[in-house]
Amino acid sequence: MDILLIGAPGAGKGTQAEKLSQLFGLRHIASGDLFRKAFEEQTELGLKAQRYVDLGELVPDDITIPMVIRHIEEPESMNGVVLDGFPRTLVQAQTLDAELQRFNRKPPKVDGICDLDGSKLYQRPDDAGEAMRRRLVIYFNQTVQVLEYYSQQQKLREIDGNQSIDQVHKALMEEINVYTSSAATS
Ligand code: AMP
Repeated sequence: MDILLIGAPGAGKGTQAEKLSQLFGLRHIASGDLFRKAFEEQTELGLKAQRYVDLGELVPDDITIPMVIRHIEEPESMNGVVLDGFPRTLVQAQTLDAELQRFNRKPPKVDGICDLDGSKLYQRPDDAGEAMRRRLVIYFNQTVQVLEYYSQQQKLREIDGNQSIDQVHKALMEEINVYTSSAATS
């Protein structure tokens, strides 16, 4: 099983991806984390991608797609993956499909603690200011096309991310159960 988590920046995709990955034994692949690791290691890919990430722009598809696909093809991904932050453009979604076939931000009442469920809050450098604004604009201009793409294939399930971590996890599990039981009977 492969699970794709698509949502606006700050929606909590990473947290949910981690839980689903552990529960189902799927590899968690977060495109943003791959870029951040590449900068830390000062690889060529990291150096190419850094300026886009710092500005909150999408890293071009010709850099992003091969990086993610390479990880999906690795043996550790054989049982399936939870993709977090990818696909974000229509071309990414279409390439991923072809590849798989081939084999509300408000200050909390208590600083640093989520009002909804008491979990610890953290903010990445690109979660603020102009870069965050760019990421939201890109999400609503480009990534929403990916939603339409999967909706047409009846593969889209929508979850309200504006709830506690446990509530979002529960809603995800309900959708996954409906999906796996219908896949088993068809
Ligand atoms: P994230 O951690 O998923 O919010 O990603 C952080 C940043 O990495 C984004 O603002 C983009 O600059 C870049 N990035 C991550 N995933 C992608 C993607 N699928 N396509 C293009 N750029 C991406």
